[in-house]
Amino acid sequence: MSILPRLLAAATLALVIPTATLLAAPMQKVMLLTGQSSKYHDWLKSYPLVRTYLEQTGLFTVDVVLTPTQGADMSGFKPTFSNYAAVVMIYEGDEWPAATKAAFVAYMKNGGGLVSIHDTDNAFPYWKEWNEMIGVGGWGLKADGNIGARDITFGPMIRWRDGKVVLDATTPGGATHPAKHDFLVTTRTPDHPIMRGLPAAWLHANDEIYSRLRGPAKNVTVLATALPDKVKFPTATGENEPMLMTITYGKGRIFHTTLGHVNSKDLPPYLPLVCAGFAVTVQRGTEWAATGKVTQKVPADFPTAGKTSVRIP
Ligand SMILES: [Zn+2]
Repeated sequence: MSILPRLLAAATLALVIPTATLLAAPMQKVMLLTGQSSKYHDWLKSYPLVRTYLEQTGLFTVDVVLTPTQGADMSGFKPTFSNYAAVVMIYEGDEWPAATKAAFVAYMKNGGGLVSIHDTDNAFPYWKEWNEMIGVGGWGLKADGNIGARDITFGPMIRWRDGKVVLDATTPGGATHPAKHDFLVTTRTPDHPIMRGLPAAWLHANDEIYSRLRGPAKNVTVLATALPDKVKFPTATGENEPMLMTITYGKGRIFHTTLGHVNSKDLPPYLPLVCAGFAVTVQRGTEWAATGKVTQKVPADFPTAGKTSVRIP
């Protein structure tokens, strides 16, 4: 082949390949921020699974960003949030430096995305803007180091009664959960992009029903609830507790899932995390937080109202 046809072929390729690339949805950059848990959880067990779920979509490139370890100097922790379409967090740990918090608030107000997984909503009880981002949160460390910061003074609990959201600001009590068990997750906002095509109710595997979460509860959409059974669990709330929520904060989008417990004593498989319902709602919730849309199809192995579905790696 002479040089001219070769050049022509190269020029054709150069023209064709970028055009083809433009037709596919661009990969979204997602930060998976983790690195600390309380003694009740274990980020080392949860984040590899979440990372795999995000990458399996083919929609995201995932950078894992680890905070310093508990008690270590946090002053150099300054991730560049603005480089990412969404920040997925598995984090229940030390306070960030004020400048890092301010950068995160600015990122969210300007249209950033946040996914808060399970115990992440226990973090930062005294960070006002964080409480607004997550809507409602659990326990949280008090100044004396004991859990239970988020009491009635932190705001109402979100209830689902008679087909709608009710904010209960008068019943006292902080976060709790019944012992782990399989429970029904009931869809409440079926037309939300995250929920479209999911069953009206599905059985989630062996998790904690986070209950009596409290916070400002502003700009929250309740996507799905679960009802802890007072007969089986006499100290349970007997209320439809929010399990999946979205919150808007400035121009930012937050997907808040209370599902996904694992602690340092648990042995694999970690059923709440390998539940196909957990995986799929994290995948869909992350896409929504990153882009405002959900393009993923609901897989055939999604749990049903009668049967859990777990993916043993
Ligand atoms: Zn837990």
